[in-house]
Amino acid sequence: MINVVQPALGERELDAVREVFESNWVGRGARTDQFETALAGHLGVGREHITSTNSCTSATFIAMELLGVGPGDEVVLPTVSFVGVGNAIAAHGARPVFCDVDEATLNPNAADIEAVLTERTKAVVILHYGGYPGSVAEIAELCRDRGVRLVEDAALAIASTAGGRACGTFGDMGVWSFDHAKILVTVDGGMLYVRDPELAARAAKIAYFGLEQRAPGRSGPSSSFHSGYDQALRSRTRWWDYDVTSFSGRSTTNDVLSAIGTVQLARLDEFIARRREIAQAYDAGLADVAGLRLPPPLPAGHTSSHYMYWVQFDGGVRDQVARDLFERGVYTTFRYPLMHRIGAYGSDAVLPRAEAAAEKTLLLPIHQSLSDADVDRVIAEVRDRTAARLGGARAA
Ligand SMILES: *Cc1c(COP(=O)(O)O)cnc(C)c1O
Repeated sequence: MINVVQPALGERELDAVREVFESNWVGRGARTDQFETALAGHLGVGREHITSTNSCTSATFIAMELLGVGPGDEVVLPTVSFVGVGNAIAAHGARPVFCDVDEATLNPNAADIEAVLTERTKAVVILHYGGYPGSVAEIAELCRDRGVRLVEDAALAIASTAGGRACGTFGDMGVWSFDHAKILVTVDGGMLYVRDPELAARAAKIAYFGLEQRAPGRSGPSSSFHSGYDQALRSRTRWWDYDVTSFSGRSTTNDVLSAIGTVQLARLDEFIARRREIAQAYDAGLADVAGLRLPPPLPAGHTSSHYMYWVQFDGGVRDQVARDLFERGVYTTFRYPLMHRIGAYGSDAVLPRAEAAAEKTLLLPIHQSLSDADVDRVIAEVRDRTAARLGGARAA
């Protein structure tokens, strides 16, 4: 079976883990500091703005808490989004309000966001669909003009840029995922970027029980429970004392996962280059298939992480082709089932372009471990099954 996504973890990651085991410190410590510093450098932001977490979803929950989102507030998000974001909004007592998306890119345009803003809108959370930046600069400008906070769910956009700027850093906050199915994999993990330095310092505390050391320790997102020893000793306070600043749980990561992340980040350029090659091979190999639409070309100045490669079928044959491909060992899927159709969120929105896209879009396998032979096989099978099913649909 050719997987739709797959991690690329190997000897270098194993060596890094072995080193952490041998150091006798596997909790959050120096290797997590190193990973956060490397991530900040990769994104082109100051290190004090970055907090690593145990998942993207917990980073999103922290973001909602920092924004003070609560009952009576609305938070706008595209209906093509992941439930982790909807849950973070609803769990804080706010109402998720879903907007439509562009039918070809599955990203919202600024006009789609604007159409659902009200005086109760506190924040907007956008997703970079498949790693494509989308209209992020225009949406950031709209949010600034309207005094609405912007959070970017950059879970799929670790290497995506628009106009030279990293996705996830256009708005007030950004969140990323390093879970088992993403490009940069720490097995489980996430990251939060917070533009405001004071809020960023609070984020680090929320990620760790709301603890604040009484002893003058290191402040900022890197502080961990053991980091203030030296200063505490010098100031002759009891270094084990602490205060609680919020009733928070624990969302921190650890040095085992951070050591894996540091290796993965060093390999990221190579991962993205291979993914780009595969996307280009699909573009070339599928361009002339009747009834099949390919992702639109990236606008000038945009780069994608190529997390997803999607195709859209005419003639209502998507589900049939997906089943055929599965039977022939090619796994495909669709992300994300439309949020406004999930009853728990209580939406009665009608979003026709997203609804049309959700019926015809299919994600093809794309990951850095696919061989050229795998890619050729996917192309051959998609060509064959599309022609067969569309031919059948037309005859019928
Ligand atoms: C995977 C994913 C998340 C959640 O990430 P976790 O690290 O698993 O919590 C959020 N948003 C999107 C778009 C995702 O694909």
